[in-house]
Amino acid sequence: METLVILGATGSIGQSTLDVVKRHSERYRVYALTANTQYTQVLDDALACDACVVVLHEQSVSNSATAYAQKIGYSGVLAFGESAAIDAVQHHAVTKVMAAIVGGAGLSTSMAAVQAGKTLLLANKESLVMSGALLMDAAAQSGATILPIDSEHNAIFQCLPDDYTYGELASSGIHKILLTGSGGPFLTRELDSFDTITPEQACAHPNWDMGQKISVDSATMMNKGLEFIEAKWLFGLQNNDIQIVLHPQSVIHSMVQYCDGSVIAQMGNPDMRTPIAHALAFPERIESGVEPLDFSKLNDFTFATPCQERYPNLYLTLEAAQQGQTACTFVNASNEIAVAAFLHRKISFSDITRVNEQVLSKAPQMVAHTLDEVVAQDREARLFATEAVQRLSRC
Ligand code: NAD
Ligand code: MG
Repeated sequence: METLVILGATGSIGQSTLDVVKRHSERYRVYALTANTQYTQVLDDALACDACVVVLHEQSVSNSATAYAQKIGYSGVLAFGESAAIDAVQHHAVTKVMAAIVGGAGLSTSMAAVQAGKTLLLANKESLVMSGALLMDAAAQSGATILPIDSEHNAIFQCLPDDYTYGELASSGIHKILLTGSGGPFLTRELDSFDTITPEQACAHPNWDMGQKISVDSATMMNKGLEFIEAKWLFGLQNNDIQIVLHPQSVIHSMVQYCDGSVIAQMGNPDMRTPIAHALAFPERIESGVEPLDFSKLNDFTFATPCQERYPNLYLTLEAAQQGQTACTFVNASNEIAVAAFLHRKISFSDITRVNEQVLSKAPQMVAHTLDEVVAQDREARLFATEAVQRLSRC
């Protein structure tokens, strides 16, 4: 029996995780669920799956949440704030932690899980983008395992040889890692109409049903840039080990190209319950609720290279990946502020890249050696990004 904490339980990944877990109550026990503010949903779910602990990150909802817990008869522990989430993650009974908080807010709990030697099921890619070296070092020290939930990284993990040694591509006969991406909803949209894109249009992903932030990141392909950095840390890759391939149908979730000419791909319907079930049960396989792929219904199977004119945010993030940790932390933090401003209609879709460009140009050379230093860099970049948003929203 595995004992789980699901961080960000009310989100898209959190809900898909609960769906898979519900199908296998003989294998998984939920110890804790966390959310930011959505107390009704998380408490209803906690009651349904008999979770011992619920944590809400936002303290200001404590009175309403406590009243709601009493109303529905939830008798577990209800706690508030980041330190309560860290305590839940590090509880001795917990074996696996699903990191499904969105953005930099997920860093401290990802790190806490790794430091406590838990198996980290990592959806929160921003943690690795901000502080890949620190997280990977902490995992090496504690013996924690990090299993990728991001569909591309989960696919790569499935396509690598079983005895793959971290960072050793050549000795495993690997030529390249092919990181696929759909290109999002604006793959064919007229370039001169990008300034009129609305948040609703940007969030309407053609293949995946996801939270708002990652949906916008998919539309700008910032998401693929973040995933490029995530792949580097997860598998020990250099920049030129990875090639980004546009695959609009999202059936192939990524591939590994071997030196003998073989390419091994992982395929499936675009439904996050597949990588979630894979990581939950690894190395076994369990039923996930995902429909089997029906090849008789696949009419198209196409591939292309993403162009810089359409996806400048992707290329900016690849530049940050070349520069190093501080640049990655800066561009990640900036992007969160810019995407939030776009979703609140303060800036245009194209302004997201303008904000990120301005903030990236201010990234210092100094590399962070502690989590506190990463958090300080993140805070500084958010201030620069907020100023850039203010300037652009006045235009
Ligand atoms: P979402 O917006 O649907 O859900 C986010 C969750 O995080 C919610 O439970 C919310 O309450 C919680 N949260 C938000 N702000 C918080 C804060 N400040 N402190 C604590 N908790 C907070 O997001 P999502 O789409 O489920 O994505 C979650 C993570 O998984 C992201 O890092 C995303 O990049 C990654 N991911 C998502 C998908 C997907 O299909 N949705 C695929 C791959 C990777
Ligand atoms: Mg992905």
